[in-house]
Amino acid sequence: MNIPLIVGRENVKHVVSVSGGKDSGATYLEALERTEGDFIALCADTGNEHPETLEYVSRLHERTGGPKVQIIKADFTAQLERKKRFLESGKAVSRTKNPWSPARVDQVLAHGLKPTGIPFLDLCCSKGFFPARNSAFCSQSLKRLSNLSLVQQPLIDSGFHVWSWQGIRAEESAKRACYPMWEPSPDTEGMTIYRPLMGWTLADVIAKHKHHGLKLNPLYGMGFERVGCLPCINSSKKDIRLVAKLFPWAIEKIRQWENEVRAVSRLQVSTFFHQDTTPGASGPTQIDEVVRWSRTRHGGKQYDLLVYADQSISDVCIYAGGLCE
Ligand code: SF4
Repeated sequence: MNIPLIVGRENVKHVVSVSGGKDSGATYLEALERTEGDFIALCADTGNEHPETLEYVSRLHERTGGPKVQIIKADFTAQLERKKRFLESGKAVSRTKNPWSPARVDQVLAHGLKPTGIPFLDLCCSKGFFPARNSAFCSQSLKRLSNLSLVQQPLIDSGFHVWSWQGIRAEESAKRACYPMWEPSPDTEGMTIYRPLMGWTLADVIAKHKHHGLKLNPLYGMGFERVGCLPCINSSKKDIRLVAKLFPWAIEKIRQWENEVRAVSRLQVSTFFHQDTTPGASGPTQIDEVVRWSRTRHGGKQYDLLVYADQSISDVCIYAGGLCE
């Protein structure tokens, strides 16, 4: 069921979040039809996307006739500075819960807490750990809050009511099926959350792209199940394997990030993937071990020889939607 939108109502601004994935692409196209192109499209660059994804997003307007997507980036300079001041103050050593050792404080301060300009890395350095599946603060801090603080809240402050469009489908998970199609934002006055794809199937998403002649992000055509960060903390075993096979530089990036976050963490332990990612792991598993596991068959012991076969990219399974390049 869709609700009619009031096109041209002066005090309403429609804001569509775009990630480069198929569901947000369908949401953009739906907004294009139903607001006659009168909407703002936003993409939060986490610093962890494949360049192909950013290119896809930045050219969406050329391929559809819709508005150009504004690419925004969160900045964690203030959080890193706050952490530095906290360590310098001595409060980290004297607190009763999870105190730091004086030696560790000195090591972290000597290493430095300078911003790199890579939002994902700076966020994790400011916290001293990576996000986990049950605490995906990356999505919250890098996407939701940056959309809100950089674009949506200023609109609300100027007197607009914001409709925030999100590409969530009920069939994706039982949890997502519980979301209403629209609701007043629970924490932001002046904003309505709108999820136009709630009743959509994957076939509907593909059909919408087809109708507009818009090809999906080419990463789907390389076999990826999901498009977003590369890798995402929630990447499937198959997607981790594909990242390692097709884009080894992305594994090298995570290896460096693990070193950086470990260097400024209290316990000197930090891994990009949560230990639950690799079944049976007794502790935190670093990226190289996760990649090794991704090449195993079910159970994680026996290596899948097919994974090592010299397949070309075109041999890797092609996304079922059939719209891939
Ligand atoms: S790592 Fe995954 S959950 Fe986190 S911001 Fe990136 S895509 Fe979202």
